[in-house]
Amino acid sequence: MSKWKHKHILDLASFSLEDYSSVMELSHRFRNQPLKGVRKLPALQGRLVSTLFFEPSTRTRSSFELAAKNLSADVQSFTPSTSSISKGESLIDTALTYVAMGADILIVRHNCANVPEQLANELDKTKTNTSILNAGDGLHSHPSQGLLDLYTLANHFKPEQPLPIALSGKRIVIVGDILHSRVARSNLWALTGCGADVILCGPSSLLPSCFSEFVSSPPPGISNDPVVNRGQISIKRDLDEALCDADAVMTLRLQKERMHENLITDLRRYHYEYGLTHERLKSCGKKIPVLHPGPANRGVEISSSLLEDRSICLIEEQVKNGISVRMAILYLVATGKGLTSK
Ligand code: ASP
Repeated sequence: MSKWKHKHILDLASFSLEDYSSVMELSHRFRNQPLKGVRKLPALQGRLVSTLFFEPSTRTRSSFELAAKNLSADVQSFTPSTSSISKGESLIDTALTYVAMGADILIVRHNCANVPEQLANELDKTKTNTSILNAGDGLHSHPSQGLLDLYTLANHFKPEQPLPIALSGKRIVIVGDILHSRVARSNLWALTGCGADVILCGPSSLLPSCFSEFVSSPPPGISNDPVVNRGQISIKRDLDEALCDADAVMTLRLQKERMHENLITDLRRYHYEYGLTHERLKSCGKKIPVLHPGPANRGVEISSSLLEDRSICLIEEQVKNGISVRMAILYLVATGKGLTSK
């Protein structure tokens, strides 16, 4: 396994194929690790992981905390409403307070894009070794979700070897509110980075045409794309057509809290046109897996019965894999190396 280069994980645009391989290989080992009667591995003993969530979270926060505890790290959580943020303390001063208490890794979620990056830049100026992991920033990025989706798909396609090659040439549909989704953005980098083609599907109000160019313009700071052969992105407005030759489909919630205006007024019509149901999947002629990052709105982007059908819907797998993938990320960032080969 190659040496890990990322001190912080802020988005996936800077990830190479080797980076995806390292995360997936390690996630797979953690997932299958025989714990021999103990629940914890000693890998991060003596390290302090602090979670700073300025936005609500059900899965990501508890998954990161569990992952850190599984590696024997100490875990400290920050709750904005009961902190000195309500007395006007700045974000950087809050972060520096946690660094002064000895945090090795700060896991940050914020409703504004690039807050984790700004904190990382400020911390780097102080020459601290503390790493920042982005746990979701505005519409921008949700790297750990992108990585766990990648691993879940690879593990579905090739359970004996869930590595990037398992995704090469696959066609993955992402349907729904792409515009407001940091999950979609991280998945676009991750899936195309492993050679999958992505078909985006949704109405133009939630999926502007410019998304077909998304991965051709890397964000500031990345002059050369670290991936040589990326998959392609295309856009389809008709879901049945998009599903025709798809290998998997991921559906997204309407993220109303991130919309400035009410872009979808008729939820029944939206469900009819873009909702996933057993009937719709049947009509595309083959059994393809369904992913959902959660939280789901039953009867809107997905029917209740499909959401609960574990033979098709991988939502539970995603949650379970989220723990091992986050263990992998924490391990790589904290130690700067992969596990030694078997
Ligand atoms: N949980 C994901 C996120 O934090 C997806 C969602 O909220 O719909 O972005």
